[in-house]
Amino acid sequence: MTTPHIPDAEELEALRQRYRIERERRVRPDGIRQYRATEAEFGYYADDPYTEPTEREPLRDTVDVAVVGGGFGGILAGARLRQRGVERIRIVEKGGGFGGTWYWNRYPGVHCDIESHVYLPMLDETGYVPEWKYSPGEEIRRHAVRIARKFSLGPDALFSTGVTSLTWDEASEAWIVATDRGDAFRATYVVTATGTLSEPKLPGIPGIEEFEGHTFHTSRWDYAYTGGTPEGGMTGLAGKRVGLVGTGATGIQVLPKLAEDAGHVLVFQRTPSTVDVRANRRTTAREVGADREGWARERRDNYLRIVSGEPAGRDLVADSWTRSAVLLEKLLPSFRRRGDRKDFEAAYEAADAAKMNELRARVAACVTDPGTAEKLKPWYRYACKRPAFSDTYYPAFNRPDVTLVDTADTHGIERVTPHGVVVGDTAYGLDCLIFATGFSVGTSGVLSGKLPVHGRGGTQLLHRWAQEGPRTVHGFTSHGFPNLIQMGTLQNASSVNFTHILDEQAVHVAALVAAAEAEGAVIEPSREDEAAWIATLAEDAPDHAWFHAECTPGYYNREGRGRPNGPNAYPDGAFAFHELLGRWREESMGRVLRARASADGGSSRRRGLSRGAQAPGPR
Ligand code: NDP
Repeated sequence: MTTPHIPDAEELEALRQRYRIERERRVRPDGIRQYRATEAEFGYYADDPYTEPTEREPLRDTVDVAVVGGGFGGILAGARLRQRGVERIRIVEKGGGFGGTWYWNRYPGVHCDIESHVYLPMLDETGYVPEWKYSPGEEIRRHAVRIARKFSLGPDALFSTGVTSLTWDEASEAWIVATDRGDAFRATYVVTATGTLSEPKLPGIPGIEEFEGHTFHTSRWDYAYTGGTPEGGMTGLAGKRVGLVGTGATGIQVLPKLAEDAGHVLVFQRTPSTVDVRANRRTTAREVGADREGWARERRDNYLRIVSGEPAGRDLVADSWTRSAVLLEKLLPSFRRRGDRKDFEAAYEAADAAKMNELRARVAACVTDPGTAEKLKPWYRYACKRPAFSDTYYPAFNRPDVTLVDTADTHGIERVTPHGVVVGDTAYGLDCLIFATGFSVGTSGVLSGKLPVHGRGGTQLLHRWAQEGPRTVHGFTSHGFPNLIQMGTLQNASSVNFTHILDEQAVHVAALVAAAEAEGAVIEPSREDEAAWIATLAEDAPDHAWFHAECTPGYYNREGRGRPNGPNAYPDGAFAFHELLGRWREESMGRVLRARASADGGSSRRRGLSRGAQAPGPR
């Protein structure tokens, strides 16, 4: 690697000014209100194009654990619970199969942009070794199914089913799980694993409902219309003029495939992404050391250490993510811990500028038309937007049948007409309009209010949190909501390798349930436990607000409004958080266990399930 040129004070000041101008060009007064949910008249954008729901009778039975969500979070929770000997695990999933985001996102070119060998969970347990450094989406979806199969999660699962409410029944000390298919079954424990970016959103462009051509969202790719597969071969697009709205991580993966098959592609860009080197290639089991026991765990831990700013020794993955990790301030809490904050920020800004200069130079090197290259250059700090990676995105703009339409000055497409779209003075005729416009943040599951949770005495979780702010222990459990365990980032931890976070959460979920079963207890923290955790989060909470306030708008900063106030995640990062959780399980887990009102103990024992099956799970 060559040493980057670190800009001097004058260059930095010039960049700051340029970033300010670009931000001001993009901020819209309507912020997150500019988007439309894929509901009601736009509900068809969120329909499942892959599976026809099958008829079935509503269920009224009882299970040990209900898991809301069949993505990697729910599957891993199921797998780790199974390892602890839990028998009746019912995953309830809106989609027609397992996989979550990888079930829904089947657009052409879909790949994981985190290295497969650290992203795909349970490789040690399933014996699977990915073939590519970055797996195609279908391989990932199949791996989700592989885990579900290995741990027999399919037979009890309910697909094409949405949970509509959770109600704690004091008399039976169980949750009543109601769904949109008329189910009302009981579960001793409920685990929510509803994901963070699962509801597709549309831009609220005037006239969007008037378009007479074909239209869909990338997370519901309409292969019936385009033909082909995620590998390409979309013969249905031959000769068609296709509009692609959005140039985030999704749009960047879609364009090269679309360009191969469509008559002409018009890319409507508002803010360019950073697009770094991908360098995907086939890998061998030998080079990743897959002949050694525990190889995948070791690699995954090494990756998390690096992107969390912890000392790691060797960089096993060695890709654009790990090489850029020193720039990802929000992933570098431990760096901040070590030095003087001002020094850190100055050094960080300079390194950030060096990286962004390198990425802007990459555009100029890859795109032959200087005008197009200029429009594709990103002018903001590196962590303002989710970085993207591709070696085929920029070259697609060198094709005569791909046109970039910059919409920054008009805050996006201004109007949709029956036959196309309007930007400035120009009307662009289109046969097909594809929205790669992302997902609503925090609008699925418990936090959205669409899944009401009624705890002890009928108290609704979100009503309580609206009054007191979110209150949990480690993000998982809350007072007044016994045996409810939430998976997610709130008051927990996050990382770019999100499946790793989910697996650590799943291990924790299973340990909590196993301990409650062993003690004949319910899981419920006290108000003091919640207060203690919130105080820990607040103690060293970094102030990210200044950083996000200066960023271009996007879902990272609530469209330019900065982050919501208040402690959100563990301040010292995911790696330290997992160590803390491990110690807590060893020393303090008993604090959140309360005696059951009924004397006969846990659900498994009531049905005579083997407690011997509580084999020690992973840490
Ligand atoms: P994003 O929210 O990142 O991008 C949405 C895009 O739509 C942006 O370019 C946005 O522009 C644009 N847009 C929105 N409204 C308009 C409008 N009115 N006119 C023109 N453009 C508009 O969504 P993605 O689906 O790309 O990515 C979401 C997340 O999913 C990623 O951040 C990542 O976490 C994950 N992902 C992960 C992948 C992986 O491989 N692991 C692959 C793909 C996605 P602007 O920026 O100006 O708002």
